Amino acid sequence: MTILKKNLLTFEKLELERLVQDLRMPKFVASQILNWLYQKKVNSFEKMKNISKSNRDILEKQFSILPFKKIEKLESKEKNAIKYNITLSDDQVVECVVLIEKKYTSLCVSSQCGCPVDCKFCVTGAMGFKRNLTMEEIVGQFHFAQSEGYNVTRIVFMGMGEPLLNYSPVKHSFERLTGESFYNLSRRNITISTSGYLAGIKRLIDDKWFVNLAFSVGSTQSLVRQKLMPLEERNPIAKVSVLLQQYQELHNRKLTLEYTLLKGVNDSLQDVAGLIRLAKYLKAKINLINLNPHKCIPFTPLSSIELNKFKEQISESKIPVTIRFRKGQDIAAACGQLGDSQVKK
Ligand code: SAH
Ligand code: SF4
Repeated sequence: MTILKKNLLTFEKLELERLVQDLRMPKFVASQILNWLYQKKVNSFEKMKNISKSNRDILEKQFSILPFKKIEKLESKEKNAIKYNITLSDDQVVECVVLIEKKYTSLCVSSQCGCPVDCKFCVTGAMGFKRNLTMEEIVGQFHFAQSEGYNVTRIVFMGMGEPLLNYSPVKHSFERLTGESFYNLSRRNITISTSGYLAGIKRLIDDKWFVNLAFSVGSTQSLVRQKLMPLEERNPIAKVSVLLQQYQELHNRKLTLEYTLLKGVNDSLQDVAGLIRLAKYLKAKINLINLNPHKCIPFTPLSSIELNKFKEQISESKIPVTIRFRKGQDIAAACGQLGDSQVKK
């Protein structure tokens, strides 16, 4: 039943005003709805208390607030990572993760169901590509986390999928999340993570869409990168770097290099040197992610001694470098683990 209802998150103010008037309600009901949605972030019509019961009933019959069928919640032992398995209207499942830090709460959102890029160290890649998410399916992940009481102030597009391969809905979501009459989040608190698509980065430049970007390096050596990330063949890191440099010159948003460490594959001294060179060229900081292992991934992580040594070698060059703490491994909510339940056996 719910599937046939129009989703409220889709509408701009004018469209909503027209819709409520078509339902013989006063125009101001549209403003009331927008207020309940974007300021109070409710997820049921029942909570829209200043709208009459009869009007709420009519609205409920016509519209849905979230474009989802079912949501299952998993909480990590330390209670600092909460994963939602979200069933979409066509029964596909995507995941998003709330990460509770000391000073703020962030949300890792999915932009696609599965991922076509097929990086060999990533579980989402192993599950294959199902489809792109719509703007409301992306924004709905945030809306739901807020309605659950998490005060999410930062968003990272690091869940399932390659955001630049679903460009328009991702851009539209960004506008909704940061729009003053919508969720009004700070533009600086939203980061898009990409495996490095030339066409996508070109589009960012052409659109003058300046956003915090994280670039997933994999390896700075083209031949190794090709084995880990098949997109390297058509999107060679040398060209991607030149384009990223052009993009960075145009604005002052941060660029982060994300580097997933695979033992014996991309952890040599030569790799350290390559990563430092790239970070200097792009004036970027580095975020090291030790591999989150999985039975379908043919790589192993570094030991904590090896990981710290890799970090120290970078620190000597004065490049800012951090190690991403693994949260939510027990519920398969860490980087690259999303899609765990859907990987082809
Ligand atoms: N598709 C985008 C965003 C989602 S992946 C991208 O690739 O950037 C988010 C991050 O998780 C990327 O930096 C990716 O390299 C990393 N990642 C993927 N699989 C991982 C794994 N098994 N362990 C650790 N990090 C992983
Ligand atoms: Fe897709 Fe990113 Fe996973 Fe690569 S690392 S398969 S781009 S989600």
